[in-house]
Amino acid sequence: MSNKWVYFFGAGKTEGKAEMKNLLGGKGSNLAEMANLDIPVPPGFTVTTEACIEYQKLNGQYPEGMWDQVLENLGKLEESMGAKLGGGDDPLLVSVRSGARVSMPGMMDTVLNLGMNDATVAAVAKKTGNERFAYDSYRRFLTMFGDVVLEIEHAKFEAILDKKKEAKGVEMDTDLDINDLKEIVEEFKELIKIETGSAFPEDPKEQLKYAINAVFGSWNNARAIKYRQINHIPDDWGTAVNVQTMVYGNMGDSSGTGVAFTRDPATGEKRFFGEYLINAQGEDVVAGIRTPSEIKELEDAMPTVYKELEGIYLKLEDHYRDMQDIEFTIQEGKLYMLQTRTGKRTAGSAIRIAVEMVEEGMISKETAVQRVDPAQLDQLLHPMIDPKADVKSVAKGLPASPGAAVGKVVFTPEEAEIAAEHGEKVILVRPETTPEDVGGMHAAQGILTAIGGMTSHAAVVARGMGKCCVVGCGALRINEAAGECVIGGSKVKHGDFITLNGSTGEVIIGQAPLIQPEITGNFEKLMGWADEIRTLGVWTNADTPKDAQNARNFGAEGIGLCRTEHMFFDEGRIPIVRRMIMAKSEDIRKAALAELLPMQRSDFEGILEAMAGQPVTIRLLDPPLHEFLPNAMHIREEMAELKMQMTQADTLAKVDELYRELKAREELLANVDSLHEFNPMLGHRGCRLGVTFPEIYDMQAQAIFEAAVELKKHGVDARPEVMIPLVGNAKELSFLRERVVKIADDIIAASGVEIKYTVGTMIEIPRAALTASEIAEHAQFFSFGTNDLTQFTFGISRDDSGKFLPEYVTKGIWPGDPFVSIDPVGVKRIMQIAVEDGRATRPELKVGICGEHGGEPKSIAICHELGLNYVSCSPFRVPVARLAAAQAKLAAE
Ligand code: ADP
Ligand code: MG
Ligand code: MG
Repeated sequence: MSNKWVYFFGAGKTEGKAEMKNLLGGKGSNLAEMANLDIPVPPGFTVTTEACIEYQKLNGQYPEGMWDQVLENLGKLEESMGAKLGGGDDPLLVSVRSGARVSMPGMMDTVLNLGMNDATVAAVAKKTGNERFAYDSYRRFLTMFGDVVLEIEHAKFEAILDKKKEAKGVEMDTDLDINDLKEIVEEFKELIKIETGSAFPEDPKEQLKYAINAVFGSWNNARAIKYRQINHIPDDWGTAVNVQTMVYGNMGDSSGTGVAFTRDPATGEKRFFGEYLINAQGEDVVAGIRTPSEIKELEDAMPTVYKELEGIYLKLEDHYRDMQDIEFTIQEGKLYMLQTRTGKRTAGSAIRIAVEMVEEGMISKETAVQRVDPAQLDQLLHPMIDPKADVKSVAKGLPASPGAAVGKVVFTPEEAEIAAEHGEKVILVRPETTPEDVGGMHAAQGILTAIGGMTSHAAVVARGMGKCCVVGCGALRINEAAGECVIGGSKVKHGDFITLNGSTGEVIIGQAPLIQPEITGNFEKLMGWADEIRTLGVWTNADTPKDAQNARNFGAEGIGLCRTEHMFFDEGRIPIVRRMIMAKSEDIRKAALAELLPMQRSDFEGILEAMAGQPVTIRLLDPPLHEFLPNAMHIREEMAELKMQMTQADTLAKVDELYRELKAREELLANVDSLHEFNPMLGHRGCRLGVTFPEIYDMQAQAIFEAAVELKKHGVDARPEVMIPLVGNAKELSFLRERVVKIADDIIAASGVEIKYTVGTMIEIPRAALTASEIAEHAQFFSFGTNDLTQFTFGISRDDSGKFLPEYVTKGIWPGDPFVSIDPVGVKRIMQIAVEDGRATRPELKVGICGEHGGEPKSIAICHELGLNYVSCSPFRVPVARLAAAQAKLAAE
């Protein structure tokens, strides 16, 4: 822990730099960096994130020396500005801005014009010769200070302002005259006194102390905590505080403020993109109060300023070698930069920027591959509106964040969260969004707002989340109280479906058909680079030829898990499956299996053909048999119904028929009861079925190899890999493997064609991992079934974890949900044992993973580290896995 708590920036005395992000926060370190690059930045100083953490530890006390250092740096600032905080003819005013390591949009509010009081306002008025400006700044400061620092409801300030506007019969703040503003200032101070019980602090140093405390405190406000949870940001990073000389965008028509991106954050196009407002301060641009102008217009309005801005943005992008999101203010024709940071962007834009920067020679392919967040690719892989569909949009807003979303209309973030918990898809429809809405935005499929531009809160946050979003939809009128809205003239009730097209801004009533997009252009290029880099194979989990084909299109190199149970649920098959299960003798069972055989064979033919030339790992039957039978309660209800009907039947033949049906139900029920298990997860399933009913696995093996042989005869390169589930003991495996091998070899020998195949096992029971050296004697491959492996390692049923697991995560007992991301301690250790011991027995042992984790970037990194051969995941996660595998390789270098 350093004892230096404060770092100066600007005026040629900069102490920080970009690399000091952890200590100075993103905002502070980049302000320092810009100053180092001779970019005009109003000078100031940064109080470190470490000071914030110490402050929390000390229960609201500053660490030793911090306040002295603040005063010392303030002195330095006053000296370089030739102005004093709260004093003299030329008082210094500052902003107090929070800034954590990563930008947290809208999470912590900035206080502008600090240092204003009754004395300084008069001096500012005199010095600038602009009394209006002075009082306008003062009332803004009182509002921000009152709201952010003293926690007085913002609406109370608004109410005073509105009342004044009403009394004067004007609409805009700018229509109020100096006397109005002076009265408002008095009323604001009165409000502060009433609300807090003490007078507004006139002493600027006291104001500063209050504001610093508020920034420190805001690290732990509810919405900051929520944002950190959603984005997995550690609680102990803390936020820095930036105290910076004010510059004024509200000094008249030669002043203004704006935000811009060095490339288009929605599409990635290489063009300067942004918005500005003349005669405005701070958040006016993004607040959607007045409609901002496009940055292009600045070129005509203020050509010299625009030229300078252009030079700066190019310099910044070149320096950071990445797309920047910048804030600037023009004070009476002079340009100041107030912020630069890596711009948030959609997945499509991230890819385009990364690829084009490689082509421009700015970054390497490796860097490009690391620039795109694999999780974000979801946006491009999730459905879009079928271009062939005949959909008609009723309204058009701004295309703030691409992709398509279908959902039911809700009007509040709370509803969105509740609906999401119930698995419902909703679209959050709001006039505009605020930081309080972040939870609801996260829960919704998409967001639609009536006002706000491309840099409004909704747009920025949705892009960050990779969520479809349409903003500024002028044709949207919300009547929340009536539970309805009107979109482009059509009335839409709460709960009605709408579809958003975030790529065009269109709003469609009802549910539009969505389709899977394809990987082309820049996306394909980036994926190609990822493939060159990665060493981990990427396979897919697919049970049907269609899924297999989809996955192949996305770049899958094999099937790591083809479940066979789904094949049994087919309507035509389930009666045969039930007959097989309920068979009283082996002969009856074999007869039922013989009927299933051709069906299974055609299933396997389909999937082996779709994956021709690539391995297809087929898992033999896994679930407990009772899953194929109806549930007992249902049968009992049917029986009661049949008995009813029997009493009412009018012919003997009818009675007889009903009786026979009743008997059949009784028998079914007896079977269901006999198959009942107290804990089916740990019961008669997986290879235990194969051991007790070998003829089931025999039939499946026969179907697989007959299918493979048939295909091979027609020139299709079928590559089956037979996977035996839930093995915990080498003997289980050797018993089953021998049968499979015998069947396979007989069929292949009789066919005259050559088929290469393997037999392996899933590693999902910890004992299998712990005895991997023996198991590997009978397995040509291992595939980690990490869903069950996690379940068994933690002793937690996946289906019941919902009741307590979230609380464990909130309480920090577990860092995250182990069913989402592989437990990097326990489960990883078990996997490591299996890999090492298995390969000690059989060096060429192929090892993969087929659990849900196989498509999750952090888990993929673990798989890479453990030296697995491949990961297997659901088809639409294949590109995510390809990129994550490349990143894992680069990170390990
Ligand atoms: P956020 O982190 O929410 O972007 P900022 O600290 O960047 O918050 O500030 C909010 C607004 O106030 C921005 O528009 C910023 O440009 C403006 N601002 C901050 N400091 C100053 C300053 N010293 N002079 C003028 N405007 C400022
Ligand atoms: Mg900002
Ligand atoms: Mg399993």
